[in-house]
Amino acid sequence: MNWINTSEPYIIAGPCSAESEEQVLKTAKALKDTGSVHAFRSGVWKPRTRPGSFEGIGAPALAWLQKVKSEIGLPVMVEVGNTQHIDAALKAGIDQLWVGARTTVNPFYVQEMAEALRGVDIPVLIKNPIHPEIGLWIGAIERFQSAGIKQLAAIHRGFFTYESAPFRNEPKWELAIELKHMAPEVPILCDPSHIAGKPSLIAEVCQTALDLNFDGLMIESHIAPEKALSDKEQQITPETLKALLDQLVLRTPSSDNVIFQQHLTQLRAQIDEIDHELLRVLAKRMLLAAEIGRYKQENNVTIFQLERWFEILESRKAWGTDLGLVEKFVYELYQLIHKNSIRVQTELMK
Ligand code: PEP
Ligand code: MN
Repeated sequence: MNWINTSEPYIIAGPCSAESEEQVLKTAKALKDTGSVHAFRSGVWKPRTRPGSFEGIGAPALAWLQKVKSEIGLPVMVEVGNTQHIDAALKAGIDQLWVGARTTVNPFYVQEMAEALRGVDIPVLIKNPIHPEIGLWIGAIERFQSAGIKQLAAIHRGFFTYESAPFRNEPKWELAIELKHMAPEVPILCDPSHIAGKPSLIAEVCQTALDLNFDGLMIESHIAPEKALSDKEQQITPETLKALLDQLVLRTPSSDNVIFQQHLTQLRAQIDEIDHELLRVLAKRMLLAAEIGRYKQENNVTIFQLERWFEILESRKAWGTDLGLVEKFVYELYQLIHKNSIRVQTELMK
């Protein structure tokens, strides 16, 4: 069941943190005036990686959100990280809850929170865990489902990475798509703010999410981003948010146009053929790897030769980039191929 019943993408916006009544109300009013925002987000309890940073106003800020709801007319949502947060949020009449990336990783907390919500009919949105482990993400969804929560959604907010990347948290679209396969009835939203980490990348992340047919976006917006007490670098003004939303291209998941469908079918048939060929070639490569493995065994030679692996990686990256492929893709592909060759050869040596 998809509880999000807007015909266009569901847009959640609001500041990273509620900092003062004035900041909350001014931001909410400006967001409401855009005419494009469906719900107002604001962190009240902030899970900070290290102590000493602004940890949120706590329960007193809930009264400001009640005003957003009654005076401005936007449904309000907060992040909850334990059962006390849930009790306080429910008492304050908060409309929706979200579980942050630092909480999704902890099955104890998730289970306790799910139990605390048993019998309560409230939307719960679950961010992906910090690290790319889909089991924890779907696990959290299942824990809330088992507690009877019907209005669930997932939020893709990117994943921690050690690699220097343009993104603060690397998007892993393939994991989000995998989650959709595992739980097709659960809508999925994207949080481009925590993925991008800076305003200049937010629009392209939003567009990718919409092109992948995501059900909505959660974007951080602050009336004066330069004064924000948390996530200052990534928040945008309601005005910038409006301009950004207006330039997004909305595409439909399919088209009834016959010409379109015929052409798409032809192109897909070509892809099928290429994939078949690709797999035939890969199977041939694996047979050769097995032959090399047997030969090494007969000659008492170890499976793995570091220099050969480096040479393979370097030459394939060069060949790939010459053919117009992205280096990172070729690198990841060969990591996978090599891993499988080693598996085949290790089996032989047993
Ligand atoms: C937030 O939404 O402000 C937040 C803390 O996000 P995340 O859990 O994705 O880090
Ligand atoms: Mn934030």
